[in-house]
Amino acid sequence: MKIHDIGGEFALIDRMARQSPVIHPDLVTGIGDDAAVIGGWFPDGDYLLVTTDMLVETRHFRRDWATAAQIGNKSVACNVSDIAAMGGTPTFMFVSLALERDTQVAWVETLYKGMAQACQRYGVVLAGGDTTQAEAATISITLLGRVSPGNLRLRSHARPGELLCVTGHLGGSAAGLALLAAGLPTPPYLKEKHLAPVCRLDLSPLIAPVARAMIDISDGLAAEVNHICDQSGTGAEIDVKEIPIHPAVHDAARQTGNDPLDFALSGGEDFELLFSIPRDNKPLLDEKGVSVTVVGRVTEATSGRVLSFPTGKRLALSGGYDHFS
Ligand code: ADP
Ligand code: MG
Repeated sequence: MKIHDIGGEFALIDRMARQSPVIHPDLVTGIGDDAAVIGGWFPDGDYLLVTTDMLVETRHFRRDWATAAQIGNKSVACNVSDIAAMGGTPTFMFVSLALERDTQVAWVETLYKGMAQACQRYGVVLAGGDTTQAEAATISITLLGRVSPGNLRLRSHARPGELLCVTGHLGGSAAGLALLAAGLPTPPYLKEKHLAPVCRLDLSPLIAPVARAMIDISDGLAAEVNHICDQSGTGAEIDVKEIPIHPAVHDAARQTGNDPLDFALSGGEDFELLFSIPRDNKPLLDEKGVSVTVVGRVTEATSGRVLSFPTGKRLALSGGYDHFS
């Protein structure tokens, strides 16, 4: 049986989790959220957060499209994004590098310059790592963080009746990638979204205290809504017309023969935040000047996960980027 036979990446992770059903009193949340949440470390009661994300050459980056500095930035940003999704603050970072034998030293130095710039932006400190040789360059980062119990936002916290909101615009990274892959001119906005992403550590400390469930959008909106529903035991309804899609994404979709909605729902690597929030708390975000878009609402599990179109058409909310599909 192959990985795609059992349903892909997420089904595989479920299976692996069942192989190690160990519970520990300090493990608040293990496999299944954006980061592990571990108690018993900080005297003030804060939780330790641990996340890890890997970038593999060709699969996640191409040296002919991205500079080494951009790859360094992205490898840090995608990890910080997971800490932001928990409502936390990133702290220390460990970098494991697998490099081809003939890799230029200057390339690695520039990679680290890019990482250092991102670390400075997000307040992260490089504290160690590992280096080895391999056939494809691979950058695997483990990032620690901390969060106060009151600000901890889990994928499992959504309740029916809450609003579902997103930060920023969606689909930009996938649209940029589609133009680059087609060899078409790529506007700076989309190039930036794909090659030099910025995650939402600027907004998460403002959102976390008033939100309920939160997740970062790394695999497309559809997959992330489904993760929240899976973990919270709820349904969800997403209003297609409310999904914030930048005009440049519409242009890119036209040029590459794609549907802009697919970029937003299944594209991935947007590194925006999706969260649920009680209706009464939404004005608190507005008062703080935090601009987010309400894209739908959390419903009872029996209502399913639905994508609702202005025409009245309703589709099952499926899709999302899966590394083994
Ligand atoms: P994200 O997209 O937020 O980085 P992932 O989809 O990569 O999250 O992972 C979802 C959950 O599965 C996380 O809790 C992660 O720690 C866990 N996970 C992923 N791969 C593995 C693995 N190989 N072994 C154990 N846990 C894993
Ligand atoms: Mg995540």
